[in-house]
Amino acid sequence: MNINRPRGTNDILPSESYKWQQVEAKVRDICYRYGYQEIRTPIFEHTELFERGIGETTDIVEKEMYTFVDRGDRSITLRPEGTAPVVRAFIENNLYAGQLPAKLYYMGPMFRYEKPQAGRYRQFTQFGVEAIGSMDPVLDVEMITLPIELYKACGLAGFEVHINSLGCPKCRSEYRNQLQAMLAAKADQFCESCQSRINRNPLRVLDCKSPKCRELLKDIPSIQDYLCPECREHFDQVTTSLDQLGINYVVDPHLVRGFDYYTKTVFGILVPTLGAQNAIGGGGRYDGLVEEIGGKSMPAVGFAVGMERLLLALAQENIAFNEPKAAGYVAHFGGKTKQAAVKLVHDLRQAGLWVEMDYLDRSLKAQMKSADKLQSQWVIMIGEDELAQNLVKIRWMNTGNEEQVALDQVAEYLASKREG
Ligand code: AMP
Repeated sequence: MNINRPRGTNDILPSESYKWQQVEAKVRDICYRYGYQEIRTPIFEHTELFERGIGETTDIVEKEMYTFVDRGDRSITLRPEGTAPVVRAFIENNLYAGQLPAKLYYMGPMFRYEKPQAGRYRQFTQFGVEAIGSMDPVLDVEMITLPIELYKACGLAGFEVHINSLGCPKCRSEYRNQLQAMLAAKADQFCESCQSRINRNPLRVLDCKSPKCRELLKDIPSIQDYLCPECREHFDQVTTSLDQLGINYVVDPHLVRGFDYYTKTVFGILVPTLGAQNAIGGGGRYDGLVEEIGGKSMPAVGFAVGMERLLLALAQENIAFNEPKAAGYVAHFGGKTKQAAVKLVHDLRQAGLWVEMDYLDRSLKAQMKSADKLQSQWVIMIGEDELAQNLVKIRWMNTGNEEQVALDQVAEYLASKREG
């Protein structure tokens, strides 16, 4: 029986991995410019971290976590998201003592037991950023502009930014109560999952995708009308600053997110043409989370970008990547010529070039074919007679021109060609 990869996971093959590397390089470059430094936390954490951090009545905690008891009888969970672990690490390593806000980013696999489909996997990759230790709406704006800069740097055009405010515990609870009462009055008309959410997490009803529920939600009042003066002012400052930066956005009062920890600003970035899984990133402010996880009270804001979906969106827009190409290929005819090839390849690799050779004792024709596939700029042929005179032949693949070069001068010759 064949053993296949688990459902909802992906193999990223060489034909794709170079694209990932190029997007990852853009991520690191943008984080550098915005002053965010990388943090690497464990892939698994104590289950309690997510129960407390994400919220016990969220879909993720209720039914999507990969949780198991380890051999030491501890309940362990593969991380379903990156914010709670970063906040845990911030507290545990006393990063309060450093410069505030702490500006951190991460990139790596997350795990959720979801129903797999295009753009939704059980293991997926997130790049995320967290700024811990400031209330400033300027940071909320930075969290929106940074992923936008990434999408633009990748060449993506067709995305939309949606923003909302979820208020603070004070104004949100008033809205939550009103909302709950209104939803409860027509509870039997909502879909099954909304019916169960009305009591436990009524805000989540707002982003139900079912057309029937959406219709029922049409006359529901907007959380925007319930914001307290402080939350209103914060949100207005965010939108004013976005306007000033020329960033287009839509205020979407139905935008809520899958975690309980959000306060004030939330946002989502989507590519409408991507289909059902069209969110390519999202985030918001989470002023209560540090305290919830056991730290001092400290405001914070962050976002996460789904890397698989970003790559899907780029593929959909036919964005080109730089395909990896070998600098050159050293062809040989076995025996002494192979020994000479091994030495030459070794020297040229030491000089920093991607140089390939044949490992299957194939004909020159087959070797030339390999060189072509690798898009080599040149092929060096080491023939027996020439080797006896310490010479090799080099063919430039784009012109077909051939030259003879002394074997011990090849590196200098290639360097002079590169400079020229
Ligand atoms: P979230 O952590 O749920 O706010 O998600 C942030 C981003 O991660 C989303 O906008 C998606 O791009 C991506 N994402 C979330 N869940 C999945 C999944 N199951 N598979 C692939 N990407 C995901």
